Amino acid sequence: MKIPKRFRTHCPFCKKHTEHIAERVKKGRASTLTRITRQKKRQQGIGNSGKFSKVPAGEKPTKRIALKYRCSECNKSHQRPCFRAKKFEFKE
Ligand SMILES: [Zn+2]
Repeated sequence: MKIPKRFRTHCPFCKKHTEHIAERVKKGRASTLTRITRQKKRQQGIGNSGKFSKVPAGEKPTKRIALKYRCSECNKSHQRPCFRAKKFEFKE
């Protein structure tokens, strides 16, 4: 999926259409006490045990892509609901 780096869209602060710059939201540090990390820790055993567990492992085929849209007039940024895509890059 390709998305233009700069495009005109609505700014909720200026309340009108302005030029925006899209940027990727950086992934924060993973929390160590989520339900899935506790579940994986519980299932770890010796040898093959835990290998065929119900806990999903590995990477998903699509990644969640979160974008920030920064207004070039007021320099504030807003976000929109993220989407999923296999590949993602910015168009020039
Ligand atoms: Zn603005």
